[in-house]
Amino acid sequence: MDLRCEGCAGCCVDWRPLAPTAAGSDRTGRRPPIDDRYDLVPLTRDEVAAFLDDGLGDVLTPRLFEPAERDDTARIDGVDVAAVGDRPVFVVGLRKPPKPVAPVGTDEQRWLGACVFLDPTTLQCRIHETDRYPRTCSTYPGHNLELDAETECERVEAAGGGDRLLDDDPPDRLPAPAFGSHAVGTTVFAYPDPDDLDGAVERIRDGAATAADRARFVGAAVGSRPGSFAVDPDRMAEARRRACAADSWAGRAIREWTARADDDGAAVTHDDDARERLVRRLEDDAGAPETPGWE
Ligand code: SF4
Ligand code: SF4
Repeated sequence: MDLRCEGCAGCCVDWRPLAPTAAGSDRTGRRPPIDDRYDLVPLTRDEVAAFLDDGLGDVLTPRLFEPAERDDTARIDGVDVAAVGDRPVFVVGLRKPPKPVAPVGTDEQRWLGACVFLDPTTLQCRIHETDRYPRTCSTYPGHNLELDAETECERVEAAGGGDRLLDDDPPDRLPAPAFGSHAVGTTVFAYPDPDDLDGAVERIRDGAATAADRARFVGAAVGSRPGSFAVDPDRMAEARRRACAADSWAGRAIREWTARADDDGAAVTHDDDARERLVRRLEDDAGAPETPGWE
């Protein structure tokens, strides 16, 4: 596997507004998500716990799924979600606030949903090769190549974003994929108290989840036991409390970007220098790890 990622960030940005026909969708497969985010990065329970330990509980967000045929189903807020018994099944990923970016080989800045850890200026990941770098990101697109499934890199190529996938041999060693029976309690969790979720499911579907909504699911993920859908109530409550209290540079940057953003896909009115100053103020000076740049 050999990739040319410079100037791309196709797997970190929701670039559907740039090329709606070339970009893919998370709403494929037997259980599409109920929300409309793009390229959510599913995290393991240990990764969720580690973000929480670093005070970054406010970068995490849940995803629930539409039920497949013969799945158990929970109906909450009038929304049917895939469940185990009556407990909604979910994963936890990273939030994607709007940021001023020019990804997939373009040079005009636009407001696009971008991973909380993507530096809008360099289009590099701020946690690349650190202990917090998600396994999903470090192995991408290895599982797609192994399954002969389309990659984001090829979608970017199809959109005219340049050569990206330079060698499509899958890596020799890959960790288990994020979904499947082995992922129960590790990446795929079940929320133990569905009666607590009134209002939350509708907000998650509409991209309007509150900090309290997100913290509930972070708590349940951290309280989960690998290999089962069991959740330790004490561990869940403690993790939920810490997620709710998180106030990191990244969470504050999400709020700042969201307050400044124009419509999804709208051209950014300021120039590159102004963006660089803004990124420095909202992210770098606020505590974000630096990226090295591509030189
Ligand atoms: S963690 Fe890094 S590599 Fe993964 S989606 Fe976010 S910016 Fe991209
Ligand atoms: S879509 Fe492919 S080429 Fe582009 S940044 Fe992601 S891994 Fe790299």
